[in-house]
Amino acid sequence: MRDHDFDLFVIGGGSGGVRAARMAAQRGARVALAEAAALGGTCVNVGCIPKKLYSYAAHYSHDFAEAAGFGWDVGEPALDWPRLKANRAREIARLNGVYEQLLTGAGVQLIRGWAQLLDGHSVKVQTTAGPRTHSARHVLIATGGTASVPPLPGRNLAVTSDSMFDLDPFPRRLVVVGGGYIACEFASIFRGLGAQVSLLYRGEQILRGFDDEVRHFIAGEMLKSGIDLRLGTEVESMTNANDGVDVALRDGSRLGAETVLFATGRVPNVEGLGLDAAGVKQGHLGAIEVDAHHRTSRPSVYAVGDVTARLQLTPVALAEAMAVVDHLFGDGRRRMDYDLVPTAVFTHPPIGTVGLTEEQAREKFARVAVFRSEFKPLRHTLSGSSERCLMKLVVDVASDRVVGLHMVGPEAGEVVQGFAVAMKAGATKALFDATIGIHPTVAEEFVTMREPVR
Ligand SMILES: Cc1cc2nc3c(=O)[nH]c(=O)nc-3n(C[C@H](O)[C@H](O)[C@H](O)COP(=O)(O)OP(=O)(O)OC[C@H]3O[C@@H](n4cnc5c(N)ncnc54)[C@H](O)[C@@H]3O)c2cc1C
Repeated sequence: MRDHDFDLFVIGGGSGGVRAARMAAQRGARVALAEAAALGGTCVNVGCIPKKLYSYAAHYSHDFAEAAGFGWDVGEPALDWPRLKANRAREIARLNGVYEQLLTGAGVQLIRGWAQLLDGHSVKVQTTAGPRTHSARHVLIATGGTASVPPLPGRNLAVTSDSMFDLDPFPRRLVVVGGGYIACEFASIFRGLGAQVSLLYRGEQILRGFDDEVRHFIAGEMLKSGIDLRLGTEVESMTNANDGVDVALRDGSRLGAETVLFATGRVPNVEGLGLDAAGVKQGHLGAIEVDAHHRTSRPSVYAVGDVTARLQLTPVALAEAMAVVDHLFGDGRRRMDYDLVPTAVFTHPPIGTVGLTEEQAREKFARVAVFRSEFKPLRHTLSGSSERCLMKLVVDVASDRVVGLHMVGPEAGEVVQGFAVAMKAGATKALFDATIGIHPTVAEEFVTMREPVR
């Protein structure tokens, strides 16, 4: 066998790449990782982490408004946007450093630059000192995804989610185009931070793929929070206006905004990667095709994370990376299981979900029972907020297994994470019923719903 420079060469230092490189090096493999931008990838720099920090920031506006009902007088709150941005940037820089330490501490050779496959075993990296070529027994592609904006007149006037964290000045009027979770989250966050927000979506309801009842419920809550949600609405073009952007809609109406965010989808980051040269097959929108071991059509090349366009979530990229490392350098028993992956949408209120939607369950099972509860959380009896909570269980009647669990309400992500374990263990409705609730909480509702509504 040819003697290669490395056992594993990882392209991309985001969630999947860093995890794979670190775990492989800890198992004694000789590992290199090439990263063209900041370590940590999308999640750390322009995704999950800064978004959640801004979501916390936005929640304060609700807290200040609700404090009066609990006897607090807090005066007129004001957002110092530059301070929030600076504090976020400092924390992200700290995390970049932590990632670097994790890699170098494990013995990974970190190569800064843009990487390109020359064949199934050679990678060329454009470094500041010029191009360098390295050989490796295995290559792992973990280059993630990138936002895509449809080609329409004035497209260059719109921004993508990458720019939202450092906007200058704070956009008092924001138009968000899209109906997926990123669009909905930014609409909620900037509304909470004090912007006037219009959310435009061409479909009939936001959050396609989520439970229909959840979609309608959160749409109602977003409207209540003051978001101008317009369904069945498409942007025709954008032009420069004195104080921002003039957005022309297909129905002939117009909207003015200081910032227009297009959150209309993400595509795999494969441009210039040399996939053809390496003989790596791609599918829809250029996504790298992989088998159950995350191996591409070129046997020495593997791919994980958003570049394979399966479930575009950080914990999924991490789990896939660990499966690859186990396959290459471990006992090979670890498999990625895409069943019952819990997710959250950090709207205000947030959504937590795991398992099948009611619609999916009805397609799959002969008889389905739905348990549902909608109520005003205890906190809002004094807060003055009109926010409500929705909780829903979907049960396969034949097996009594809870196959879908959905929530729109406070800390939905935190609540659903725990229930996901129970569902992974095959929990039945009888087990939910036998579980004692914690009182008074919102989560106890999941174990106290007795009568099906359908
Ligand atoms: C706004 C937003 C919010 C999100 N919120 C959440 C959330 O709340 N929860 C959640 O689970 N997921 C969330 N995600 C998704 C999550 O960020 C991704 O699923 C995750 O980062 C994917 O990891 P990855 O390793 O596949 O790619 P990435 O993390 O994107 O990393 C890819 C890395 O590869 C580098 N790279 C690309 N090409 C090359 C090359 N040729 N040479 C060298 N380096 C290269 C890039 O610079 C990047 O650093 C969010 C995404 C966005 C955009």
